[in-house]
Amino acid sequence: MGYPRVIVNRKKIKENIVKLVEKSKGSNIDIMGITKVFSGNKELAKMMVENGVKYLGDSRLENLKKFREYEVPKVLIRLPMGSQVEDVIRYSDISLNSEISVISLLNKEAKKQDKIHKIILMIELGDLREGILFSEVKSYVERIIKMKNIRIEGIGTNLTCYGGVIPTEKNLGELEKIANFVEKSFNMRLNIISGGNSSSLDMLFKNKLPKKINNLRLGEALIFGRETAFGENLKGYNSDTVLLQAEIIELKEKESFPEGKLGVNAFGEKMTFEDLGIRERAIIAIGKQDVSIENIILKDKEIKILGASSDHMVLDITDSKINYRVGSILEFKLNYSSLLELTTSPYVKVVFE
Ligand SMILES: *Cc1c(COP(=O)(O)O)cnc(C)c1O
Repeated sequence: MGYPRVIVNRKKIKENIVKLVEKSKGSNIDIMGITKVFSGNKELAKMMVENGVKYLGDSRLENLKKFREYEVPKVLIRLPMGSQVEDVIRYSDISLNSEISVISLLNKEAKKQDKIHKIILMIELGDLREGILFSEVKSYVERIIKMKNIRIEGIGTNLTCYGGVIPTEKNLGELEKIANFVEKSFNMRLNIISGGNSSSLDMLFKNKLPKKINNLRLGEALIFGRETAFGENLKGYNSDTVLLQAEIIELKEKESFPEGKLGVNAFGEKMTFEDLGIRERAIIAIGKQDVSIENIILKDKEIKILGASSDHMVLDITDSKINYRVGSILEFKLNYSSLLELTTSPYVKVVFE
């Protein structure tokens, strides 16, 4: 199969999905499974759907396009570009929106394709990423309900993404109020009140989510068993679900201090070195094109990452108790950022075990 590869523990992720679906059901919440950190991996999407996730969401249409065979609604969770409305209507059933001009383009395109496109209107509640302001809600809804091929499926908000604002009873209470306001003023029912991402789980577990919230969009929590408001691993969930394996392609004793006049490296950085004499060094076949070194952690704690260029990572293995050889495989723990980078690299294999 080849290296580098990301090994995915199917059983552990499945356990996370099953448990979170069960937990959410208790509060009448449907889960939208977000696949973007896995670059829209189909096996992951399938596992989500088979274990009770009600919607599949991704920020890229290229990923949603792969999910056509799955029965659940596909949701574009990044605001659509006006230039991509044709594919938005074709490959997504629902999209998250905050711009009237784009919604209007979606309406025209949906008419062309003879479809009704559903939207979730995003509300800005302080995190300052996407969403319309409370003061705009009324005029937005007034204009959208006149569009024949668009249906307002619900409203939603996104927190802890850009500004790091944590979900509270106050800001999510605001979402509930807006939902009630829209339903009353326009005599309509909103099917989805989407109360955020993995950062809303602390509130779910403390039973503090406003009653009207009936949807959460979860990526990190399903994959890493983590809530992201405080960055805690969820008790009883699996956080060690993925790991990276990379292969040693050179192993030699070398000086720790470079010889020659020092300029900058291939990335324009001026490196600093400590002269530790001769050290045992390994090169593994992975580099900056695949992952940033600050986002991965070696399982062998005695190894130190010295640096990386595009395709090579240089390690000091002198203090390790393990006898590595050329061809040995090193393992790394991953976080959200490194998993995102690695699954985006076409040079890294993703293997479900
Ligand atoms: C990424 C994203 C999510 C999922 O976030 P997690 O922290 O992985 O749960 C939900 N909603 C939107 C709009 C997103 O962009």
